[in-house]
Amino acid sequence: MGLADTVQFTLRPKDLEKASDMFGIEIALLERLNDQRLLNATYIRNLLIRADYERLTSGLHWLEHQDKNYNFPEVLRALSREYNISQQNLKDILHGRNESLLFCNRCGKRIGKSQYNRTKGFCSNCFADTLEL
Ligand SMILES: [Zn+2]
Repeated sequence: MGLADTVQFTLRPKDLEKASDMFGIEIALLERLNDQRLLNATYIRNLLIRADYERLTSGLHWLEHQDKNYNFPEVLRALSREYNISQQNLKDILHGRNESLLFCNRCGKRIGKSQYNRTKGFCSNCFADTLEL
């Protein structure tokens, strides 16, 4: 896993254009926020990757059975190169495994989806406090 996989604070101009279209936000505003590193670049990039993926595949089953001039592995390879991330990281993004926008209802700490589902929205620490002894 390269540095680009884990650390990315700003978006490229190309990504900003895509995000502007996707969210209906003025490009100038996005650029300003991006310059000031106020954007959640990772989150936005993940959304862009998913959108690109959906656009390219139109649903995986269809792609596999039609005479498209590219196949599923090629789509993954293209996305991996475009966003400079590993294929494993890409798969995590597409399957939502690194979607960490869930927060503990009590302390506000970021928690994973499985944790969130298991505890009905608490981090492990706060969940421990709810156990009756
Ligand atoms: Zn908590």
